[in-house]
Amino acid sequence: MAKIKKKIKTIRVDADKCNGCRACEIICSAFHAEPKYSSVNPARSRIQVITHRLRDIWVPVFAGEYAEAECLGRNKYVIEEKEYDECTFCRASCPSRNLFKEPDSGLPLKCDMCEDEPPQEEPLCVQACLNDVLIYEEREEDVEEEVRPEDLETGLKLLVDKYGPQKLTDTLIRIAQKG
Ligand code: SF4
Ligand code: SF4
Repeated sequence: MAKIKKKIKTIRVDADKCNGCRACEIICSAFHAEPKYSSVNPARSRIQVITHRLRDIWVPVFAGEYAEAECLGRNKYVIEEKEYDECTFCRASCPSRNLFKEPDSGLPLKCDMCEDEPPQEEPLCVQACLNDVLIYEEREEDVEEEVRPEDLETGLKLLVDKYGPQKLTDTLIRIAQKG
């Protein structure tokens, strides 16, 4: 398979500096609202600040890949003598919890690094975080060209489960006729 240059975008998280202000969640949900900035609902955010005020915990976690099934193993973490519940730091949208799911449709949410046209200088959550918790980094890597039809299949399957095949087919035909 051919190799291509790919820009790898990452956000480094310096969790010790996080004070749980949730500005990152607010801006992410507003940026991804339809239309853009028309609403603020942190439940739609692709970054969630894992919070436990009594234990003094604030850890920002980014939404990762959708998982169709629950994983077989669960992990408990003990960090500096504080025990964290199972799944606490998991990035997946999966059947066992409601985190990283669009509240109305149940569709999985995934961080897209604020892809936009024209591009943002930095992802919005990075810009909104005034405590330098979120640090944006870019690098180039040679990677194999990747075709992922399964991503499209996953999205379509979820829409079929929610709306039924007929309604989805009618909508696709309507969109195709407009185009
Ligand atoms: S904006 Fe920064 S400090 Fe505030 S919750 Fe998000 S990561 Fe933490
Ligand atoms: S990079 Fe963009 S999409 Fe990802 S969590 Fe931050 S604001 Fe949301």
